[in-house]
Amino acid sequence: MSKLFVISAPSGAGKTTLIKSLLENSSRNLRLGISCTTRSKRKNEINGESYFFKTKTEFAEMVKNGDLLESAEVFGNLYGTPKKWVQEQLSQDVDIILELDWQGAKQMKENYPDAVLIFILPPSLKALQERLNKRNQDSEGDIEKRLAQAKIEITNGSSFDQVIINDNFELAINDLNLIIHLNKKIPQERQDLVKNSLSQLLDQ
Ligand code: 5GP
Repeated sequence: MSKLFVISAPSGAGKTTLIKSLLENSSRNLRLGISCTTRSKRKNEINGESYFFKTKTEFAEMVKNGDLLESAEVFGNLYGTPKKWVQEQLSQDVDIILELDWQGAKQMKENYPDAVLIFILPPSLKALQERLNKRNQDSEGDIEKRLAQAKIEITNGSSFDQVIINDNFELAINDLNLIIHLNKKIPQERQDLVKNSLSQLLDQ
């Protein structure tokens, strides 16, 4: 039976790089979902590859027609998961990964209770800020918004089925592989690290 994984993380936590590596080295028939969004296209993004870029009117039409499995507003833009694609993959025994915010993840769990929700923590808010500055893709105001949003994401992500931390790429990818490919829990020491980091992050 095919499996559905939903991965969420605050922006800058390294989610995209981890997912890319996971897909490149996957032994399973694993595919990444492509979402619809009303956000403007960034340079280097390709319509139909990064996202399906929609106008607000087109997006509203999709919601009205029941074409989206979930949708949420993130940083003032709308995002949603196309229903048809997900249903097709699941009926063809393909495992899928969806990269959603916490609101979308929770809606997916309501639709698909067997979905595995995975949350990726950054090592600290300071590290998150440094990564956002370094990737040089958002304005200063946007970075501030993303940091404020990160706290909301972390608060909600702490109750996901699995929480991992991207303190070190190799260790984080190993944790993801254990969950996705081996259906195992992450090692106890990694669970302890997550627990400590969570309490620190939520205290800040
Ligand atoms: P970005 O604009 O940086 O690509 O993504 C911003 C946020 O939107 C990220 O947290 C990402 O996970 C989330 N996101 C992307 N696609 C979807 C979607 O289809 N549904 C929901 N709920 N969130 C999404």
